[in-house]
Amino acid sequence: MTRTEIAGWGNFPKVEANVQNPKSELEGKKTHETLSNYIPRGAGRSYGDAALGAQVLDSRKMCDTIDFNLKEGIFTCQAGKMLEDVLDEIVPNGYFLPVTPGTKFVTIGGMIAADVHGKNHHIDGCFSKHLLWFRIMTANANIVTCSKTENTELFWATCGGMGLTGVILEAAFTLKSIETSKVKNRTLRCVNLDDTIEGLLQNESYTYSVAWVDCTSQEKKLGRSLLYLGEHATNSDIPDANLSQYRTKSPKLNVPFNFPSWMLNNQTASIFNALYYSKVREEDFSSIVGLDEYFYPLDVVKNWNRLYGSSGFVQYQVVIPIDKAKEGMRAILSKVAETKEKPKLAVLKLFGEQNDGWLSFPQRGIQIALDFRKNEQSFSLMNQLDDLVLKLKGRAYLAKDSRMKRSFFEAGYPKLGAFKQLLSQIDPNGKFRSLQSTRLGITMGAKNVLILGANSDIGKEIGNQFSSNGFGLMLAVRNPKNENEILFDATDFDSHASFVEGLKIVPDVIVVAFGVLPDTKESFERPNMAVDSTLVNYTGVVSILGHLSKVFAQRGSGTIIGVSSVAGDRGRGSNYIYGSAKAGMSTYLDGLRNFLVPKGVHVITVKPGFVNTKMTRDLKLPKLLTASSEQVGAEVYRAYEKKLNTVYILPVWRLIMLAVGSIPEFIFKKMNL
Ligand SMILES: Cc1cc2nc3c(=O)[nH]c(=O)nc-3n(C[C@H](O)[C@H](O)[C@H](O)COP(=O)(O)OP(=O)(O)OC[C@H]3O[C@@H](n4cnc5c(N)ncnc54)[C@H](O)[C@@H]3O)c2cc1C
Repeated sequence: MTRTEIAGWGNFPKVEANVQNPKSELEGKKTHETLSNYIPRGAGRSYGDAALGAQVLDSRKMCDTIDFNLKEGIFTCQAGKMLEDVLDEIVPNGYFLPVTPGTKFVTIGGMIAADVHGKNHHIDGCFSKHLLWFRIMTANANIVTCSKTENTELFWATCGGMGLTGVILEAAFTLKSIETSKVKNRTLRCVNLDDTIEGLLQNESYTYSVAWVDCTSQEKKLGRSLLYLGEHATNSDIPDANLSQYRTKSPKLNVPFNFPSWMLNNQTASIFNALYYSKVREEDFSSIVGLDEYFYPLDVVKNWNRLYGSSGFVQYQVVIPIDKAKEGMRAILSKVAETKEKPKLAVLKLFGEQNDGWLSFPQRGIQIALDFRKNEQSFSLMNQLDDLVLKLKGRAYLAKDSRMKRSFFEAGYPKLGAFKQLLSQIDPNGKFRSLQSTRLGITMGAKNVLILGANSDIGKEIGNQFSSNGFGLMLAVRNPKNENEILFDATDFDSHASFVEGLKIVPDVIVVAFGVLPDTKESFERPNMAVDSTLVNYTGVVSILGHLSKVFAQRGSGTIIGVSSVAGDRGRGSNYIYGSAKAGMSTYLDGLRNFLVPKGVHVITVKPGFVNTKMTRDLKLPKLLTASSEQVGAEVYRAYEKKLNTVYILPVWRLIMLAVGSIPEFIFKKMNL
């Protein structure tokens, strides 16, 4: 097991995870038995948080070829095998994958779990269409064989089910015969969006089609593109084509580190898009290209995701049903054209009919994929695009997602109810869960934490810790900026009852992380200021926890965590206003703990000591006695797991406060503390 930071291809979000790398099915089973919950992972090429969690089973060491039936064109392997390695075995023997994503650095397990599609969905469907069977280890550690005739429900829930039904161990799939390792490519210049969509629809007989759209074009040129149409070249096209040398010969480029995010800005994107569009001068241009160049052009640049900088990027990939496709694409591209944060890449593809996969993404229509830098502007734009897509009955692809809201996801996938129903039978405790499944409320048994004051540095870090341990987050803040945040005002006591009634779910854990640090001298001069801060730091806590603890007591379970302070352990002249409110809060929490014991509710008092936060940035804090907000997050989660009563984040503070508490008052008075 290794503890390391992992992310998807978009480099957002990133989490610290315990990663297990079993080398065999037996080891995989043992790992399965030791973990309370986890998510299977392949090559981590999904863009967002589908393969992220606190515990991860990396399948890539279970990667043997089991059988290659040359005569019938059937390949059987362990699910951790990379597509790149499958190609090395099959292409020299005259076969290719019937469906391939736009990168070969994925595993077969990942391809099944996302039910990937290629440039030929309108002809050949998703990968599941060519899948004969797979073996999967489910939550109860049973290994089940699934196909279109055996355990069919589990088969269709797993294809597109993003690893939530179990660990796919082995799979068998049919291959496509090819005569050469080349593709006959035809490139059409489309002058605007209508031209692009007509081009896709009128050329539906081509096996492969994809439109690269100049996403910086506007007005009359909006949606102009290069439309690529392709067929595998035959022996009659290229008589002496050598199948064994199919790999691209161009030198591998590498992006060695994260670029500063400003480098890939709107200007550089405009230049790139304009140059790309003008690289083909003819209206209709034909060429012969290699398989790598045609199917995996981006793979030539290793780590190209680093071009977006350390904050990462998001691919917004949605499909709009065919009858609304033109209207939808126009609305999306127009919205994008009028906003500041431009996507850097845009691709349109035509989809064929929806298959039987319960969470499989493609449906008859046109899909668009837009790559955005991850920042506030792009998130706000994508939220607006979601509203458009929702109205047009479209949906987003889970394999690319790291941000969509639960309501948007739920509206797009009509078979989600059946999927959840199946999970409640085969995995009632949510053994398989990812950050994504928790965020979108798919996983059974996932717990939720309500953070009051979620925008404080400490609140954010506590949220990160709980989230990376599989908790769903309910973020309560004074100024909500998006639909994921709930309005909460600590001093609007009259609103607290309705705040609690309005919660969509009763959380499992509540964290009180709000508070203010008043200036003592100013509060002395202006007693109203002292009252105001005390209303937040003490009365607000008593009020909101009064309502919430009743709900917990009625249910008979839950944990309340209050972030108090060492300042409450003894009154000091330099911060007596803040300290007295925190003393009240600590005593309140201690008493509440004892009161709630018989009702099955646990209360934890947290006393952080000095912490580097926005609230303390003007204070000179001694390094050795100062914790980071990350440390607070980690310690609070540990206290939750261990069911501690009172925690000092840095243990030295317990000793310090013991010593401070035992100084006789007549000496203390002279110490000017
Ligand atoms: C450059 C690029 C181009 C792409 N183009 C396309 C495209 O054209 N079409 C398309 O459909 N997708 C495309 N993708 C997305 C990619 O194909 C999918 O995200 C695929 O799932 C990644 O496989 P992986 O092995 O990296 O899986 P991961 O990213 O590691 O995991 C993806 C999902 O699969 C699950 N999973 C992985 N292994 C197993 C297993 N053994 N058992 C159970 N569940 C498992 C994980 O839990 C997770 O939910 C592209 C991605 C990139 C980076």
